[in-house]
Amino acid sequence: MGRRLIAANWKMHGNREFTRRLLADLTAELTRPGACLDNGVEVAIMPPSLLLADCRRGLEKSSLALHGLTLFLGVQNLARWSEGAYTGEISAAMAADQGCRFAIIGHSERRQLMGEDDQAISEKVAQCLASGLKPILCVGETLQEREDGQAFSRVTAQLQQALTQVNPDQWQQVVIAYEPVWAIGTGVSASAEDAQAVHRHIRVTLAALGAPAQEMAVIYGGSVKPETAKQLFAQPDIDGGLIGGASLDANSFASICRAC
Ligand code: PEP
Repeated sequence: MGRRLIAANWKMHGNREFTRRLLADLTAELTRPGACLDNGVEVAIMPPSLLLADCRRGLEKSSLALHGLTLFLGVQNLARWSEGAYTGEISAAMAADQGCRFAIIGHSERRQLMGEDDQAISEKVAQCLASGLKPILCVGETLQEREDGQAFSRVTAQLQQALTQVNPDQWQQVVIAYEPVWAIGTGVSASAEDAQAVHRHIRVTLAALGAPAQEMAVIYGGSVKPETAKQLFAQPDIDGGLIGGASLDANSFASICRAC
């Protein structure tokens, strides 16, 4: 088991009022007596980038710090370049300047809808690491690939291609999110046993790449709900979750954090 992390991917949801309310409700949920949040668990919120400043102010004003809790911020994507004439893009350094600690890289929605390829993903991982951000690298197979018995080989290829630019002293900053494409936003999670098998395979692959695989966080994403979280997080190689839909509800997200 590596470091534990629960990360909220709001995707393209929310506005300033939603942010204010969600953070207030989440603070109340996480700080109520008996909330039992294990302080070995890191929690990160990835809102749309336009809401980062509101999120940061909301967290600063909250009573989380008084309870010894820190919620980190992150972005859902960033540019493959460091700076320049790239209209509409946001650099890793800009995200770090906004107080971000994490960045989701290579989410399947970006691979499928925005045509992101492995070369771009590898460059984005390198940009994150150069700016002190922790990349949450998403890998996972489609339903067709799973049915064809290619889940492991797909994940291996994605890891090999995305991690070519990681230096030996940067491995501990890298988080891997196993997100089977067929489980994202469908309400159908991978079973704890199937997810565990792929997570084990991810650690074996990371070790073969020279990474300290046992010390790295490998988290699961794909329709995690409060009811399924406990069983998933009880697996020896599942260190937490990347949470989409359920992160938009303070109650559900706090329950998932507690399950970790
Ligand atoms: C995601 O988008 O990363 C995700 C896991 O979404 P959901 O939890 O809604 O399946």
